[in-house]
Amino acid sequence: MNPLDDPRCQCGYPLQRFWPHCPDCGRAQVWRDTAEISGDSCHHCGWAISPKFTYCPWCATMVYDERFSAKEPLKAPKGFRMDAKCDWGCGGGVQYPMPNCPWCGRRQTWNEDAQFEGDCPHCARGVDDWMDYCPWCGEDATGRDLIPKAIRQVRRLLKVSAVADWGYRILLRPGVSGVDPKYPKVVEIEQRYVTRARRRDEIPWPTLIGLVSHELGHSFLYHHWHWAQSRRFQRAFGEVRKAYRINDDAWVDFQRRRVANRPVNHVSGYAARHPQEDFAETFRYYITRRGRLRELFAELGSKRKGVPVYEKFLVLHDYVRSLRDWR
Ligand SMILES: [Zn+2]
Ligand SMILES: [Zn+2]
Ligand SMILES: [Zn+2]
Ligand SMILES: [Zn+2]
Ligand SMILES: [Zn+2]
Repeated sequence: MNPLDDPRCQCGYPLQRFWPHCPDCGRAQVWRDTAEISGDSCHHCGWAISPKFTYCPWCATMVYDERFSAKEPLKAPKGFRMDAKCDWGCGGGVQYPMPNCPWCGRRQTWNEDAQFEGDCPHCARGVDDWMDYCPWCGEDATGRDLIPKAIRQVRRLLKVSAVADWGYRILLRPGVSGVDPKYPKVVEIEQRYVTRARRRDEIPWPTLIGLVSHELGHSFLYHHWHWAQSRRFQRAFGEVRKAYRINDDAWVDFQRRRVANRPVNHVSGYAARHPQEDFAETFRYYITRRGRLRELFAELGSKRKGVPVYEKFLVLHDYVRSLRDWR
């Protein structure tokens, strides 16, 4: 097969042509003119260019050559396509995903919303949920490197609470925090809160742990959806399939670490919104208290919580145990 049809990283991973990095191993790529189609390579970055170009569209270095460079901007010289006109109206054509115009050298932006599932938390270009590295900037595409301590802490909490790993994947993304039931393992955390907290240099530690734990609760529930239909679960939490607008979890609601006095039959005010939130909140308290029911129940007692709250924790506890025993 022609290697141009099936470009791969040295690690073996299939790549899209002109991705600067491999999304699987992060290795930097150099897209040379090996098949001698476009006719030239940039003296600075080594990537394939046309001798007609004035600027390298990849690294923006001037590559003007009196003998070969076009006198006027062209649409698509040999070896290149015109996917769009230059953003700046210089009259030349640009090919996706050129970051710069080969004719006037100015920065180009591409709308990649339809091609990728999300945006890189480092460079804001398109990335897919499964990518470990951003194909554009080569940084951690999940954004987990921005909250390493929180990720470690949550992992430890799950472990000491004896909650077996169900393959969840935490991603920092712009927009909202939440879990899409269509992708139960993907847990999205609103990245703006994290960057804002970092700028102020005061990461609201328990809040971040609380938010991640709450979202993990949604993921856990979607992953064990059959259990959510069981009689015991439904008696404790109610009908989880009840109509509900998802993905609307606000950061501010998960600051509270202590069990609230009200409402009496839910662990927190937020939990009273919907059975799914009720479960996510119960899950949050369960794992942030390391699955220690005795301590939790003592607190429930001092807050005069109703019997249903105890039962919710017991339902979760028994299920977590049964999963562990089953393993
Ligand atoms: Zn690779
Ligand atoms: Zn270059
Ligand atoms: Zn231009
Ligand atoms: Zn990036
Ligand atoms: Zn929620």
